[in-house]
Amino acid sequence: MHEMSLASALMEEIDRISRQNNILRIDEVELRIGVLKQVVPQVMEEAFRAVSLGTLAEGAILRQVEIGARALCEDCGMEFVPAPDDFLCPVCGKFSRNLLEGDEILLGSLTCVT
Ligand SMILES: [Zn+2]
Repeated sequence: MHEMSLASALMEEIDRISRQNNILRIDEVELRIGVLKQVVPQVMEEAFRAVSLGTLAEGAILRQVEIGARALCEDCGMEFVPAPDDFLCPVCGKFSRNLLEGDEILLGSLTCVT
């Protein structure tokens, strides 16, 4: 269950942004999650609840947006959609882990009160 460490990192980022922008309270957090991170939304939700307790993001809505995976084959230049356990180019069959997106976690936006 790596959601807890992801949630902690997210909370640190939220905290930093809040201090820089004099944010008083956060109502909603949008999180963009690459599908290859294999985050379980329900577990992520619970982890966020736990790490945000007592912070200005306590009680905030966590909106999780899934980002699909895209990879680029270095051999033939084909862009394709890889599965978590299958990074073979559908055209030339070469293994490629040259990901364009789908392996990241990004803070999309914060809805807040300043
Ligand atoms: Zn290829």
